[in-house]
Amino acid sequence: MKVLVINSGSSSIKYRLYDESNPTPLVRGAVSRIGQTGSTLDYTSYAEHQCLSVAAPTHEAGLRLLVDSLLDERLGVVRDVREIGAVGHRAVHGGSAFRGSVLIDDAVIRKMEECVPLAPLHNPPNLVGIRAARKILPHAEQVAVFDTAFHSTMPAKAFLYALPYEYYERYGIRRYGFHGTSYRYVLARSCEILRCKPSDVRMIVAHLGNGSSMVAIDQGRSIDTSMGLTPLEGLMMGSRSGDIDPGVIFHLRRELGMGVDQIDELLNTKSGLLGVSGVSNDVRDLVEGVAAGNERCAIALDMFAYRAKKYIGAYAAALGGLDVMVFTGGIGENSALVREMICADLGFLGLELDEDRNTSTVGAEGTISADSSRVRILVVPTDEEWMIMQDTLAIVRSAAHEPKGYAHARIA
Ligand code: AMP
Repeated sequence: MKVLVINSGSSSIKYRLYDESNPTPLVRGAVSRIGQTGSTLDYTSYAEHQCLSVAAPTHEAGLRLLVDSLLDERLGVVRDVREIGAVGHRAVHGGSAFRGSVLIDDAVIRKMEECVPLAPLHNPPNLVGIRAARKILPHAEQVAVFDTAFHSTMPAKAFLYALPYEYYERYGIRRYGFHGTSYRYVLARSCEILRCKPSDVRMIVAHLGNGSSMVAIDQGRSIDTSMGLTPLEGLMMGSRSGDIDPGVIFHLRRELGMGVDQIDELLNTKSGLLGVSGVSNDVRDLVEGVAAGNERCAIALDMFAYRAKKYIGAYAAALGGLDVMVFTGGIGENSALVREMICADLGFLGLELDEDRNTSTVGAEGTISADSSRVRILVVPTDEEWMIMQDTLAIVRSAAHEPKGYAHARIA
């Protein structure tokens, strides 16, 4: 069976087509600028890379073009559309309703619609993608894989905000956490590398990218994570502030007269590495800035590493000790410098980097701790799409119509 994995965003559909049991996709790419002028279809197979100008006024039109390209006589890798037996959808916010991946039916869609207020920017385009896929590939099973699901094991003391309890009960205001699909992949892969069972390790995974978060994993279960109701809480990020005194928001409102939308934009798109440096949200640019003597680039990187370090301390305490520390995401996988800054002086917690291993592990899997380090420190490039593919296949095969599909989908 072939499985199409799609990540449907507000103006794009990123996709990969897999042949079951092969982690290298047959085709990968994106339909971009949907609903705008200058839409494109990016298509990379083992033989071809194409970037075509297309007309994609809607997600449905974009998905149809994408399926047509998969079937194309010259470009395509699929002869009959029925070969695509399933579609796995990346779904951002499953609220409290979804504790695992599920086969999509009308009831699931209704529940996902109920989660829209929790992720007004992300869930609607996910739903648009699901509806389009059901229409264009009606024979294929559709599966939703939620970013929040992995964190459904967090205990109340970790997921509650210290607000009046009815705000949780009535309005679902609590911490949910994100990057769950990435964490499940990294957990499973790390355990393969270490030849251990998830149940045997206390692990922290730092997913450091443009969006960054961290998770504390005990016996294979998320017990705490740094993102909250939305992906704004926690670590400093590319353009998101991460943790901030909520009093700052009142101050911005009362003293600077800023509107709610303006503050939302400030904290989500103008803060973080970009806001502090005034240069860029990209670590590579900041490293160049530091080399050129730009102090604010240096402060931004220092803050990024310091805040990550504080979370490692907190999560080591929450776990009652630490066995494995894993870095993933664009920064975690590629920036030896940031990893070094984060791990510096954490010897008292048992983390000791090996300098050569760290600097030589860029964009690749590897152990970067010294042989004498009590904690194994790994770099594991994440692969969320492959995780979605595995869940999709497992759920379709078990024909699970309930969230128990999640259990089938774990790689452990
Ligand atoms: P992600 O959101 O996981 O794709 O990560 C994207 C971010 O990773 C970029 O904004 C950069 O900050 C960072 N990044 C990517 N490649 C490198 C690299 N070679 N060195 C340092 N940082 C990198």
